[in-house]
Amino acid sequence: MKIARFSHGETIAFGIVDEEEHDLVVLKSDPMFAGYDPTGERVPLREAKLLAPVIPRSKVVAVGKNYREHAEEMGGEAPAEPLLFLKPNTSVIGPGDAIVLPPQSERVEHEGEVAVVIGRIAKNVAETSASDVIFGYTIANDVTARDLQKRDGQWTRAKGFDTFCPLGPVIATDLDLDGGTIETSVNGTRRQEGRLADMVHTIPAIIAYASSVFTLLPGDVILTGTPAGVGPLVDGDTVEVSVSGLGTLANPVRAAS
Ligand code: ZN
Repeated sequence: MKIARFSHGETIAFGIVDEEEHDLVVLKSDPMFAGYDPTGERVPLREAKLLAPVIPRSKVVAVGKNYREHAEEMGGEAPAEPLLFLKPNTSVIGPGDAIVLPPQSERVEHEGEVAVVIGRIAKNVAETSASDVIFGYTIANDVTARDLQKRDGQWTRAKGFDTFCPLGPVIATDLDLDGGTIETSVNGTRRQEGRLADMVHTIPAIIAYASSVFTLLPGDVILTGTPAGVGPLVDGDTVEVSVSGLGTLANPVRAAS
């Protein structure tokens, strides 16, 4: 099942995507908290503007260097334990929203990633029960000011600018982690390509590790790392991240005005 958050006229609502009918089954409330209770209304997909499918209430957790070839292109090895960092929830934007290049950076790069949406309060979750706390999966772009990341030595500023966490287009409640693929392209040219099975630390391992540090709350999002091929974004680009079964997250890029 795929869940969208969307605006239609004056209304913002959640809906279940009906891919055969090309429309949305409108829900009374956020299904993460209120279940799948339809209003009886349907909205054609072409009339809806899809929004970030989740607004993280407390945090966006991310994992650095979780694909071996990306760790190598960054000049190192994949860490033995998941390398955690946080992005502020104010960095989140939705599909189609512009990534704004901040004047402080001369090198902003894309990092296409699979994102896990947490659906329940989670603390000290065992790997074997990690699936109990997963609401679903979406696509993320862990946009990074690479020059500032190197200069600062830690990553808060480089990964924390407003608009640096596009999420969407929908949340899927299932994802083929063994056979799935991820691809990032810029202006139609493929830059990154990876297999989800190549993550160094698996999603259950990341949830167990992160929840041993801090409590995960419903609506928190975990970005699971990017495959090799990260590269620059410039004013006027369109960056697209595609994950099999999740669709494509597309965002234009523009300079700060
Ligand atoms: Zn990343």
